[in-house]
Amino acid sequence: MAKILCVLYPDPVTGYPPVYARDSIPSLGNYPDGQTLPTPSAIDFTPGHLLGCVSGELGLRTFLEAEGHELIVTSDKDGPDSVFERELPDADVVISQPFWPAYLTAERIAKAPKLKLALTAGIGSDHTDLDAAINAGITVAEVTYCNSISVAEHAVMQILALVRNFLPSHEWVASGGWNIADSVERAYDLEGMDVGVIAAGRIGQAVLRRLAPFGVRLHYFDTRRLPIDIENELGLTFHPDVESLVRSVDIVDIHAPLHPQTYHMFDADLINSMRRGSYIVNTARAEIVVRDEIVKALQSGQLAGYAGDVWYPQPPAVDHPWRTMPHEAMTPHVSGTTLSAQARYAAGTREILEDFFAGNDIRDEYLIVRGGELAGTGAKSYTAGGAASPGSA
Ligand code: NAD
Repeated sequence: MAKILCVLYPDPVTGYPPVYARDSIPSLGNYPDGQTLPTPSAIDFTPGHLLGCVSGELGLRTFLEAEGHELIVTSDKDGPDSVFERELPDADVVISQPFWPAYLTAERIAKAPKLKLALTAGIGSDHTDLDAAINAGITVAEVTYCNSISVAEHAVMQILALVRNFLPSHEWVASGGWNIADSVERAYDLEGMDVGVIAAGRIGQAVLRRLAPFGVRLHYFDTRRLPIDIENELGLTFHPDVESLVRSVDIVDIHAPLHPQTYHMFDADLINSMRRGSYIVNTARAEIVVRDEIVKALQSGQLAGYAGDVWYPQPPAVDHPWRTMPHEAMTPHVSGTTLSAQARYAAGTREILEDFFAGNDIRDEYLIVRGGELAGTGAKSYTAGGAASPGSA
């Protein structure tokens, strides 16, 4: 019998369950690269329902309690008096979502001697100190691919929202106006622009594919170059480093994991080397950019716009400057937690738990850390040793 500590975002303020806008979600085949969708033995939830909040419980309670395990679900995750910190010392498994991350710092890992599995219900395990997990022999796993397309769609939406000046135009009409000149004084066509993607992994490649029909010139930088047939198919220009990429484009779209190589990559020097009036869209991780340099660049006009859905910390303070900086099109961290994505990562979380409790191998593509080293997807996307630990910025 194991104790599973699960941190989820709070229920809707209007109550749970919500009134659903649609009756079903599409059923998909495999992921674009052929990877199969999650394969749990069964699910106890309705796909399309709200599963990522506390009352949704990721649809896990029936399954876990039937197996004799204890499930604790909370949204109270920060500070020494939080439920998370109180329950952690005898937890065997921690489950957390990047949207409402339970920061699993080295200090917290040291207080959790029984912890064997840190499971990300989503993608991106930087809220866990990977070096500390490696040293403690904890397995870190995430539901690779579960929301990659969800994020790609959000990034394309935010690119268009910035370039077309969508949000200010909407605000004019919603407040009773018809201010066409005010709406279009910062509006452009995307067509013909140079767009650069940083990290052409699952999300980055999906963005490149979705943008190709817009008649843009596509560029990318990744530490692992794509096969030449994909570059030719999409007409991609590869850049050997980020400096070369940002100098060559009008829009930078970031999809790299957060690790020492990407931490604070967008500092004043890099931002000031961009074309005046560039846009940045960042749905990867907030700490890839220097928070206050983004604000300064928007105020000076060096950047024409910044959008994304990732902040640090999460949730951010009410006076976080990104809430009020000019020319932003920010959302809370929602791109990867659509109802469609939740069905996939809830099923993937159950698949990982089933394998973990049965002593079977967890799918290699789900692994970030195993057996004291980076493994699976983690070995391709992260670096160990001196990782920027959660809470370090
Ligand atoms: P992925 O593993 O498929 O791709 C990651 C890519 O990053 C790989 O191609 C890798 O070579 C590249 N990379 C690693 N280090 C790099 C560096 N220093 N410079 C350039 N490229 C580098 O992952 P994915 O599914 O595409 O997700 C990418 C990231 O997006 C996640 O790690 C996570 O942080 C973020 N994400 C955000 C949300 C959200 O809701 N906003 C959801 C899912 C993932």
